[in-house]
Amino acid sequence: MLRKRNTKIIATLGPTSSSPIKIHSLFQAGADIFRLNFSHGTHNDHKRRVFHIRQYEKRLGRPIAILGDLQGPKIRIGTFKNNSVVLRNGQKFILDLNPKPGDEKRVLLPHPEIFKSVKKNTQILIDDGKIILNIINANSSSITTEIINGGKISNMKGVNIPETFIKMSSLTKKDIKDLEFCLDLSLDYVALSFIQKAKDLTDLKKYIGDKTGIMAKFEKPLAIKRMDEILNYSDAAMVARGDLGVEMPPEEVPIIQKRIVQACRDHGKPVVVATQMLDSMVNSPSPTRAEASDVATAVFDAADCLMLSAETASGKFPVDSVKIMDRIIRGVESDISYRQILESKKIKLEETTSDAISAAASQVVKTVFAKAIFTYTRSGATAIRAARERPTVPIIGLSPDRMTARQLALIWGVHTIHALEPKSFSGMIENACELAKKEGIVKKGDYVVITAGAPIGVSGSTNNLRIAKIS
Ligand code: PGA
Ligand code: MN
Repeated sequence: MLRKRNTKIIATLGPTSSSPIKIHSLFQAGADIFRLNFSHGTHNDHKRRVFHIRQYEKRLGRPIAILGDLQGPKIRIGTFKNNSVVLRNGQKFILDLNPKPGDEKRVLLPHPEIFKSVKKNTQILIDDGKIILNIINANSSSITTEIINGGKISNMKGVNIPETFIKMSSLTKKDIKDLEFCLDLSLDYVALSFIQKAKDLTDLKKYIGDKTGIMAKFEKPLAIKRMDEILNYSDAAMVARGDLGVEMPPEEVPIIQKRIVQACRDHGKPVVVATQMLDSMVNSPSPTRAEASDVATAVFDAADCLMLSAETASGKFPVDSVKIMDRIIRGVESDISYRQILESKKIKLEETTSDAISAAASQVVKTVFAKAIFTYTRSGATAIRAARERPTVPIIGLSPDRMTARQLALIWGVHTIHALEPKSFSGMIENACELAKKEGIVKKGDYVVITAGAPIGVSGSTNNLRIAKIS
């Protein structure tokens, strides 16, 4: 089953979408990757989801990727005597290490690292930025602030401290437990939240080696400043607009989105645009037209993948959300302006045989009107390089490695197949032509382009390009 679009869809699974039937329907509607959000749910909940996805994958005979999203050092305040208080503008409010329930004057902030990191005259935001506090002074056990934007504040609300580098690891004890769980279940990617620097990723890499792919979530302004350095150590990236939108003013988010997407394409790393894409569909069967436009913008930006969070995890219309996202993507991709915009964004080729072959493949496709590019790839790298060219036809990524085949589900334009590698290059050509017929991509007389490495079975050796005519 070849999807008629290039941009992929991630659906987050949650209470309203985890039955075998729902998972099946979400995939049929267009979800290419499923996300498990470790900020919610128990290991048992997630384990069941993985089981159902893998069962379905087996029946379907097509690789499906699963992304485990680690919560990271999400900062929260403690509780209040009466569960909530109202903070008034201009008054003082103290955050401290005292575990007693809070009141109008103070509350617990159970993260000692923060007290040493914060600076006078910077802001602390609570509850998705609704409450704004300005720091008057701070010592190792208390932070005194002035309330700039008050309002009701209740137990355990989330805290964002945008401008401050906090000396804490981005892997908490909970994350390490969740990570071990992800590795046990052989998840295809893990995403790391609230990263501040490349070392957060190298620390994670120590735990995982090559057992899964690493997705870096850009949700802090500090990470944006170190974008290139962070991308060097990631296998994929996410524009996490939920927390990013709290930590940065709204007018900067669209620009940052474009910058991250372009940087990822330059680095040859797949990129996901996430959060609030069809937010009103949590409660409504159709999106606002502004949301439709937001989805379209991310497609025009040439992101690899778009993500649904609450829409599919806890919303009332999970399957409809995927269906509508699929329709919007297909609408954009079939408009001529899409191609023009894609081609106006130049990317620089690396001086490698793999890039030379990938660029040539895209060109050959246009010259002989070929119907698909077949890439035989062990590590996935060749298919990713081919996708970076944003060719006009589907890329069929074939990998003998099961996890690679699953990971390719995230990549723009790649239709992924898990299959043994033919032993010779001529075997690959025969195999590709057979598959092209079976998948209904070609008819007699059509051309396909095939890229592969020789010697066969060696990763990183892509140096062959062949044009084959279907007989
Ligand atoms: P979250 O990450 O859903 O885990 O918070 C995405 C975001 O912040 O946009
Ligand atoms: Mn987030």
